[in-house]
Amino acid sequence: DINGSVTLSNDIKMPYLGLGVYKTKNGEEVYNAVKHALDTGYKHIDTAAAYFNEEGVGKAIKEHQISRKDIFISTKVWNSDQGYDSTIKAFNNSLKKLDMEYIDLYLQHWPVKGKFKDTWRAMETLYEQGKIKAIGVCNFLQFQLEDLMESSNIKPMVNQVEFHPFLTQESLQKFCKNEEIQYQSWFPLMHGEAFKIEIFQELADKYHRTIAQILLRWNLQKDIIIIPKSKSKMHIIENSQLFDFEISEEDMFLLDSLNRDLRMGPDPANFNF
Ligand code: NAD
Repeated sequence: DINGSVTLSNDIKMPYLGLGVYKTKNGEEVYNAVKHALDTGYKHIDTAAAYFNEEGVGKAIKEHQISRKDIFISTKVWNSDQGYDSTIKAFNNSLKKLDMEYIDLYLQHWPVKGKFKDTWRAMETLYEQGKIKAIGVCNFLQFQLEDLMESSNIKPMVNQVEFHPFLTQESLQKFCKNEEIQYQSWFPLMHGEAFKIEIFQELADKYHRTIAQILLRWNLQKDIIIIPKSKSKMHIIENSQLFDFEISEEDMFLLDSLNRDLRMGPDPANFNF
């Protein structure tokens, strides 16, 4: 059901469904999106320092009747704040903006070469101090995960990466599964591009569902955490109606077979921002 959750390697429970708030403006826009999501029953919000909307997210949560302990909030340290001292500072800044005493999941936004290990040490410190319930990364490829794990005490609990039928990275998925690193997808709806693709429409028609619901359900059946983004109440509700139907094994396989290693976002092995 909508409250289904996965147990991370450190026994913290993380809801399978969250609301993504990338490109959702601080103030009324993000406030309303978060409010609609909480009203619908979402228990998980994915923001980032780089989205510049942590205040609005925090305000919406605070003013809702939901209690802090029932909400799972993740935010991320931005690339220019990587490094030990600057990560501690960035974390405290996020905490202040969200107006919270702890964060459920703190993520590195991108694997900044030469810095991500120092960043990770800072995250380990904050985790040990109880200020973060779980720590993880985004956009790490296998070699970067191996490099990080070789030199650290705590394994990342989550890897949040670009994932949709055109970019499945099956070997990365397998690696994460073996290492008990929970896979989480961004761009699950291909940043909106999925709605133009015929094969998805055919599947949607077959199941009497929408394209969004097919792609999100495909993630869930693969044990992948989803954070679809929307500002519209109607779409926020639609994206949560995933727990009363099932995609057949055959159609799961069909979706898997569409992979063409197509990145819509930057390549984690080669980015410079
Ligand atoms: P997405 O794949 O979730 O697609 C969002 C687009 O689809 C929006 O234009 C939205 O209006 C539209 N949409 C949503 N639901 C719909 C529906 N039911 N019907 C029709 N249209 C619908 O892309 P995204 O927002 O870019 O990514 C999701 C989240 O992932 C972000 O909000 C963010 O939290 C996270 N993210 C993380 C990283 C990272 O580096 N860690 C990068 C990108 C995004």
